[in-house]
Amino acid sequence: MASVVLQHVSKRYGSVEAVHDVNLDIRDQEFLVFLGPSGCGKTTTLRMVAGLEELSGGDIFIGEENVSQKPPKDRDIAMVFQNYALYPHMSVYENMAFGLKLRKTPKSEIDRRVKEAAEILGLGQLLSRKPKELSGGQRQRVALGRAIVREPKAFLMDEPLSNLDAKLRTQTRVELKNLHHRLGATIIYVTHDQTEAMTMGTRIVVMRDGLVQQVDTPDGIYNKPANQFVATFVGTPAMNLVKGNVVAHGDGASIQIGPQAFELPDRIRQTLSRLSTDALTLGLRPEDIYLGDGHDSDPVLNATVQVIEPMGHEHIVYLSVEGQPVVARTDNSWNGHAGDTVGMKLNLQRLHAFDPSTEASLLY
Ligand code: ATP
Repeated sequence: MASVVLQHVSKRYGSVEAVHDVNLDIRDQEFLVFLGPSGCGKTTTLRMVAGLEELSGGDIFIGEENVSQKPPKDRDIAMVFQNYALYPHMSVYENMAFGLKLRKTPKSEIDRRVKEAAEILGLGQLLSRKPKELSGGQRQRVALGRAIVREPKAFLMDEPLSNLDAKLRTQTRVELKNLHHRLGATIIYVTHDQTEAMTMGTRIVVMRDGLVQQVDTPDGIYNKPANQFVATFVGTPAMNLVKGNVVAHGDGASIQIGPQAFELPDRIRQTLSRLSTDALTLGLRPEDIYLGDGHDSDPVLNATVQVIEPMGHEHIVYLSVEGQPVVARTDNSWNGHAGDTVGMKLNLQRLHAFDPSTEASLLY
């Protein structure tokens, strides 16, 4: 396995800049996930690493070698796509062996690698079956096996689970994570699914409009988002954003939201000099809001309940704070009703703050 390095990589299609100045150091044995909405440039970036798209600028290194000008077959990487297109007339064994045969790998070596991959993937009993005799998940595993037998420097995977049903997707996600450990493989993985990114990635690259927004561990992406886009893209329901105005007083500062106000914690107050105006956007995740019954002595903000969604183990509660929407999660013993006015207590330790003009975090 090997590291993969992208230096100032960009891609233009006519006047469209699909990928803009991407710099990344993907470490050996890392499971790096590109995450972002449709059209953000993640597939294009992966295809440039594979050699399937020419670079408009920059360089790509696999191991020590600059591969920017090399054709895909000389890059020693294996790709797994959403459409895994197995050869229908070949058995599982032949499907996995095919690429090695083309490379004139000795028969005994092919046999060793195919059997080893089949063992890792639990396909040992299915080697003589044809693809049509397999389930979707088994077929996807054969596609993975075809990549594994190549013993590549890195695996590139483009939404490989998106054709599977929800249950199988969860199961294959766990298998992939396990596989990553067992193979000690460098994996670069593209998805728009935040759950896949959060559960499998050792690091996540969040992209938007061809630009890298943040590169961090799943924990860093969730707890220390660099801007509003990252903050609201990861997490369900999304992080709440509430706008207000900063009012400085003495050695403190409060935020004014309509007629309501509360004191900003020190860790936010210390960053306020970065704001160009007194407008501030606060961010708070639904799990960091506690709903009272409207009779608490010190609710931080009062809100009106709009809609309650019972989820079984919890409720998702949609509220309005001075006309601004806020979503909270409560446990299922909370018994408020639509139309109620309730007190919201906020976990101020986990309050985020963003500059409304740049949308950048003031904290991270
Ligand atoms: P998706 O999840 O929908 O595949 P993505 O994040 O992988 O999205 P890309 O496929 O990398 O996005 O596309 C990035 C941008 O480049 C998009 O605006 C797309 O329309 C554009 N693009 C991609 N391929 C081409 C092409 N061959 N010619 C022109 N524009 C292209």
